[in-house]
Amino acid sequence: MARAIVIGGGIVGISIALGLADAGLEVTVLDGDDADTRASYGNAGLIWVQSKGVDHLPYARLSRWSAALWPGFAGELLEATGIDVEYTRQGGMSFCLDEAEVAARRAMVAKVAAILGEENDVEFVDGSFVRERMPDAGPAVLGASWCPSDGHVNPLLLMGALRQLAQARGATIITNRKATRIGMDGSHLTVYGDGYAMRADRAVVAAGLATGAIAATAGMTVPIRPIRGQVVVTERIAPRMEIATTTTRQARAGSMIFGNSHEDIATPGTTLPVIASHAQRAIAEFPFLASVRVLRSWGGIRVMPRDGMPVYASSKTCPGAYAVACHSGITLTAVHAKVIGAAMAAGKLPADVSTLTDERFDAVAAT
Ligand SMILES: Cc1cc2nc3c(=O)[nH]c(=O)nc-3n(C[C@H](O)[C@H](O)[C@H](O)COP(=O)(O)OP(=O)(O)OC[C@H]3O[C@@H](n4cnc5c(N)ncnc54)[C@H](O)[C@@H]3O)c2cc1C
Repeated sequence: MARAIVIGGGIVGISIALGLADAGLEVTVLDGDDADTRASYGNAGLIWVQSKGVDHLPYARLSRWSAALWPGFAGELLEATGIDVEYTRQGGMSFCLDEAEVAARRAMVAKVAAILGEENDVEFVDGSFVRERMPDAGPAVLGASWCPSDGHVNPLLLMGALRQLAQARGATIITNRKATRIGMDGSHLTVYGDGYAMRADRAVVAAGLATGAIAATAGMTVPIRPIRGQVVVTERIAPRMEIATTTTRQARAGSMIFGNSHEDIATPGTTLPVIASHAQRAIAEFPFLASVRVLRSWGGIRVMPRDGMPVYASSKTCPGAYAVACHSGITLTAVHAKVIGAAMAAGKLPADVSTLTDERFDAVAAT
């Protein structure tokens, strides 16, 4: 049986490990340790397509492809593991609170409409449309972009279900077993770590912020910017909101989750000014939140490729080695598990991601 090693046990690594295992490979996931920043455990849980690939049709399509696979994928997770990952797809909005935001959002919607043509699923809606769909939205909301393809999921339950399913399909997940490089031992693709070397037919680097350095050892270019995002969670309240916004959603258990900062900072943690601005915005968007108590907050570090779009790299110096990095790892879970993993098992990335390889960075470097 062909053997695959996946370096990194976050949402991207486990999704691809599942796809490789489903394709019949013997899969080992080598994961890091709890000192690593793990975006998969610190994100907002949105399955979000409306703003993806605004400038790049293949990314827009990949996101929508994954969103379309999500209903079946969530059903498969439930059936196979008994874990309901709280997937819901009631659409999503991105609110505008002043005229500058309205202008920027209208421009974004126009760009999406132009790039997607007949496939477009995003429109600009006014405040009355917003309040009709989301009666809790406050009078400060002037309008929004609206996309019925958007949804959300519980990312912690998702991680648990994915790990369980990957293991049930034969994958072995080893924690505290960091890899440092990929190379060729004679004609054998080999993954190296501190005191070990493991041969494989496929090796996939999906190690979050460490992806760039490990991928470089196999000649792949994966430039990543760590971007911190602070998120706030409230006490549980009665269900009142199924549609998500870019900044706020309600988890099935009742907690309100809000905040969506983008800070050029690589260390986790929270700061009072950012949390306070999140709270002010959340209350302007949904005034009832003023009387809901905050329970906790955290800062997660995004694995942001330099140009914001996912990277699917394949090594020329180490055939069979791949690297993946993306910001929207929750959104792309279904396509990673159902399409990308199988393609890597077969040894050829799909044409759909041919413009999302690392060659775009080599081209930039050459100019
Ligand atoms: C605040 C915030 C909000 C977000 N909101 C959304 C959202 O709403 N929707 C969405 O789609 N995405 C969202 N994201 C992005 C999403 O969380 C990430 O795209 C995704 O989690 C990246 O997963 P990953 O597996 O690549 O990385 P990580 O989760 O960082 O996992 C990397 C793994 O690799 C391991 N590792 C590190 N070094 C090594 C090594 N040398 N050897 C072996 N293993 C190693 C680590 O231990 C870790 O387990 C958000 C992210 C943040 C921070």
